[in-house]
Amino acid sequence: MSLTFTEAIELIRQAPRIVGFTGAGISTESGIPDFRSPGGVWANNRIIEYQEFISSRAARIEAWRQKVMTWPDMRAAQPNAGHLAFVELEKRGQLIAMITQNIDGLHQRAGHDPGKLIELHGTMLHAVCLSCSHQISMDEAVARVEAGETAPECKKCGGYLKTATVSFGQAMPEREMHRAYEAAENCEVFIAVGSSLVVYPAAYLPALAKQNGARLVIINRTETPLDEYADLVVRDEIGKALPKLIAMNV
Ligand code: NAD
Repeated sequence: MSLTFTEAIELIRQAPRIVGFTGAGISTESGIPDFRSPGGVWANNRIIEYQEFISSRAARIEAWRQKVMTWPDMRAAQPNAGHLAFVELEKRGQLIAMITQNIDGLHQRAGHDPGKLIELHGTMLHAVCLSCSHQISMDEAVARVEAGETAPECKKCGGYLKTATVSFGQAMPEREMHRAYEAAENCEVFIAVGSSLVVYPAAYLPALAKQNGARLVIINRTETPLDEYADLVVRDEIGKALPKLIAMNV
């Protein structure tokens, strides 16, 4: 590692072009379980890939059952100190992009400019028709499932309704990926927080930033495959470490 924590604070204080990149770990302190830590709700749910969702009504019923189960906690969750630290960097005019793999909408609710926020894996805040792209709110979708529509369909065209999230096996959103690559290529500091950095293509972004000359800082409580390339790895809780790293008055 080429930076100490203190040197990283100084680097971040002066850097005009910073990219924030987050995974599920930033939201655990808001009460939303991550994907790979043991014992979480998500760990107990079977992954339904996109192709299965499309081809099997039973899979759609199971996917919606899982979403209905996780929605109340996600809906009630509030942004925490980690989310607010990135908003602070944006207020200082230093953040060029807030890239997230999360679908919980907490970065949006923390107050980022939508033009800076890139939700690579979509959002749970609404459901979308896979045929005509008509959207409804997640509250409405969940209410319909609870009222007996176990695999709800679009009221406009009869297509399958799915949360507006990117499932395994589903194409990544092109515009978001393009914006994320551009930001990664043009930043001086790339701060990757709360991600196991194993889900591709998202996990390619820190490496891309590094190849283009950025300093890479990783905050994660467990090891990641990119630790050896990072300029600084902080093995601590995000809500504690990130505000310190950006010298935020808390
Ligand atoms: P992941 O679960 O694979 O990795 C999360 C990482 O964060 C882990 O390595 C864990 O050790 C670390 N971590 C957890 N809490 C932490 C804390 N308080 N401080 C420091 N480190 C902490 O998550 P991922 O890399 O984002 O990949 C999982 C996929 O699942 C993503 O695509 C994401 O879209 C999705 N997902 C999203 C949410 C959400 O929106 N909140 C929740 C679960 C899964």
